[in-house]
Amino acid sequence: MDIEVLKSEQAVLKFRWSNTNASLANALRRVIISEVPTLAIEDVIFFENGSPTSDEQIAHVLAMIPLTTPRDKYLPPDRCEEAEKEGKKCRVVLTLEARAEKEPLWVTSSMLISEDEEVKPVNPNIRITKLPPGRSIRLEAHAVLGKGKTHAKFQPGLAYYKFQPVIKVDYALCTACSTCVDVCPRSILKMEGNRVVVVAQDECSFCNLCVDKCPTKPKAIEVSYLKDTVIFTVESNGNMSPVEILEEAISVFKEKFNNIKVKTLGEEKVAK
Ligand code: SF4
Ligand code: SF4
Repeated sequence: MDIEVLKSEQAVLKFRWSNTNASLANALRRVIISEVPTLAIEDVIFFENGSPTSDEQIAHVLAMIPLTTPRDKYLPPDRCEEAEKEGKKCRVVLTLEARAEKEPLWVTSSMLISEDEEVKPVNPNIRITKLPPGRSIRLEAHAVLGKGKTHAKFQPGLAYYKFQPVIKVDYALCTACSTCVDVCPRSILKMEGNRVVVVAQDECSFCNLCVDKCPTKPKAIEVSYLKDTVIFTVESNGNMSPVEILEEAISVFKEKFNNIKVKTLGEEKVAK
């Protein structure tokens, strides 16, 4: 299994994963979207709501605001006792207090004050409600750790993959008409003098337009893929970095395999 990083940015990690297969890639994808825990608002206590938006709607908006999630600091709410013993937490409180004086006021995610400076809205500009003049809102929101498989609000981001594209031009058949270059929606092909060349193979979307429009018979261009190599992308919602998401997913993955071993071989044999 070989990994080659193609792009590593604040919110996106893209890598080429060779000597693998679709089952493994799909398993990793599913673990990322459904098993990597993140913090999200679960309970909201309203002390005052003078906005025209109902409590339920505001609670729903708050729940969907991605929160930065420090690793190894929180345990899920069903492990609160354990968290206490380990010096960790199972809940973080964010408060919101706002009042519109003479002008209407947009209440945004930046107004949520967290008791933990490491837990805050990823985006400070998410609109929650608009207060008319002279109205106030006061609430307390409790965020807990959860997984995407129980609610999408806990999903840390997106994970997807495609097989490695392979584009071949048969120069013995090619007439250099440049039709394939013109129809490709992703600028993957280019004319260099009288020759069509592949300049961005990884970006191919397998639309097959280049093959369909190629006038030669048989076709001078062929688009295929490698079954044992995928291009895998992780896009973070901002709760944690894409690399952290991947590391968390791999540790969940390992734990799951270990559980299978324990169930099939028995605890003693696995311990040895
Ligand atoms: S299959 Fe589509 S995206 Fe890929 S090279 Fe051909 S036209 Fe471009
Ligand atoms: S469309 Fe076919 S013949 Fe024309 S340049 Fe592309 S590969 Fe060559």
